[in-house]
Amino acid sequence: MRLTAKLVMAFVLVSVILMAVNGYLTMRRELQLRERQIANRSQGMAKWLEQFVVSAWETGNMPKVIQDVREINQRLTEWEIRWVWFDNRASRADRPYVSTARLRLIAADKIPCSIPHRTVEGNGFICTYYPITIGERPGGLELTSSTASLDRYKWWTFKMTAFYMGIMLLLSGIMGAVLGVNVVGRPLQLLIEKTRRAGDGDLSGDLEVGGNDELTELGHSLNDMCRQLQETQERVQAETTARIAALEQLRHVDRLQTVGRLASGIAHELGTPLNVVSGRAALLASGKLPPQDITESATTIKQEADRMANIIRQLLDFARRRTPNRVLIDLREIVEQTKELMHPLAQKHRISIEWDESSQPTTAYVDVGQLQQVLTNLIVNAVHAMPDSGTIHIAVGRRWAEPPSNENAPVAEYDFIDVLDTGAGIPDDVIDHIFEPFFTTKDVGEGTGLGLSLSYGIIKEHGGWIAASSQPGQGSCFSVYLPPKEEEPCSDAS
Ligand code: ADP
Repeated sequence: MRLTAKLVMAFVLVSVILMAVNGYLTMRRELQLRERQIANRSQGMAKWLEQFVVSAWETGNMPKVIQDVREINQRLTEWEIRWVWFDNRASRADRPYVSTARLRLIAADKIPCSIPHRTVEGNGFICTYYPITIGERPGGLELTSSTASLDRYKWWTFKMTAFYMGIMLLLSGIMGAVLGVNVVGRPLQLLIEKTRRAGDGDLSGDLEVGGNDELTELGHSLNDMCRQLQETQERVQAETTARIAALEQLRHVDRLQTVGRLASGIAHELGTPLNVVSGRAALLASGKLPPQDITESATTIKQEADRMANIIRQLLDFARRRTPNRVLIDLREIVEQTKELMHPLAQKHRISIEWDESSQPTTAYVDVGQLQQVLTNLIVNAVHAMPDSGTIHIAVGRRWAEPPSNENAPVAEYDFIDVLDTGAGIPDDVIDHIFEPFFTTKDVGEGTGLGLSLSYGIIKEHGGWIAASSQPGQGSCFSVYLPPKEEEPCSDAS
C-alpha cells in the first residue's frame, strides 16, 4: 500500500504544481495586459491635455498652467492629475511620486512612460509621466491611476486557483487512492504474500490476479515459477533419496566384501576351538572319563563354544545393515573392538596389530558401526599392503590439524585415529587417486576400489576427513580426523 500512497502523492503533487504554475502565469499575463491598458489610456489622456497646458503657459505662464491642471483634475475621476517638475528643486506639492532620478531620462528623451508604484500603506498605482517642454525646467504631467481593481483581481484569482486546487487535490486523491488500491496496491500485496510464502518454502496455491496488465503477467509468471520450483524440489528430493539409498547399498556391499575376507580368517580362528570341542566331546562319549574330568571337559566345551559364538556374533554384527545412529563414545573402545574383529585375518597373514592401550580417553560423537567399517577398511588395506607379514600400528588421540582446503573447516584440535603399516607404500602417482570411487590397484576379485571412497564419505558426514601419507617401500599412514565432542554433530545422511 505504500507504493500506492507514493503514486497517488506523486500524481496529486504534479497536478497541483501544474495548476499553480498555470494559474500564476495566466494571472501575470492578465495583469500585464491590464496595466498596459491603463498606461495607454493614461498616455492618451496626457497627450490630449498637452494642448491645454501649452496654451495656458502661453497665456498666463506657470501659475496659469498649475491652475488649469488643478481644474482638469477636479473634473476627471479616473486619474489624479498634477503638474510635476522632474528636477530636484521641485517642492513637495509638485514633486513626482516616483524618484526624479528615474524620470530625468524621460525628460531628456521626451518619451512618456508609465511606472507602477506602491505606497508604504500598500496601495498600488500606475503613474504615467508625460514630459512637456515649457520654459527651461524639465517637467510634465503626472497621471496617477489606482490599481486597486487589479489587486482585487489578483486576490480573486489567487482564491479561485486555491479553491480549484483544493477540489483537484481532493478528487485526484480519491481517484488515485481508489485506482491505486485496486489496480496496483491489492495485486501487489497478493504478489508480496505469495513471494513470502514461496520464500518460507510453501510453493502451493496459485495466485488469483485478475485483469490483463503487467502485474497480472507477473502473477502468472510467479505461479509458473513456483510450480517449476515445486517440481524441481520433488525431483531433487527423489534423487537425493535414491542417492542415499544407493550409497547405503554400496556401503553394505563394501561391508559384505570385508565380511567375506574376515570369514576366511575366522574360519581359521574357529578351527582350534572346534578341534578342542570335538576332542573333548569324543572323550565324554567314550564314557571312560572319571567324574571330575567330565565336569572339566564340559566346562572347556562350554568356554570354546562361547568363544566361537562370540566371534560369529561379532561378524554378524559387523555385516548387519543399520541406520546411522551417533553416540558419544570413547574412540579407543571402537579401536579395541575392531582390532579384535580383525585379529583372525591379521594372524592369517602373520601380521600383528599394535596399539597403545594406555592412550588418553578420546571421546567423539560417532556412529559406531560406520566408524568400525572405516577402520576395518583401513586395516584390510594395510593387511593387503603387507603380503609377507608386518605390523600395523594404531594410535588414538587429539591434536592440531589443518583440514584439506576443500573441507571448509578451521585449523583446530581434532580427534584422530592413525593406522600405520610397514607395507609397500603408495606411489606418488597413485596417492592422489586412492579416494576416488572404483579406483583400485588390486587384481580383479581382490579389490573394488570402493573402500576408501566410502570411508571418506562416512567421515565427511561426521564433519571430519581422512588424510593419507606414504613412503613408497616403507609403509603408509592413514589418519582419520573427527571434530572433538564439544562440536555440534553434523546431520546424518539418512
Ligand atoms: P580397494 O582396496 O578395493 O582397492 P580402496 O578404495 O580401499 O579400494 O583402496 C584404493 C587403493 O588405494 C588400493 O587399490 C591401493 O592401491 C591403495 N591403498 C589403500 N590403502 C593402502 C595401503 N595401506 N598401502 C598401500 N596402498 C593402499
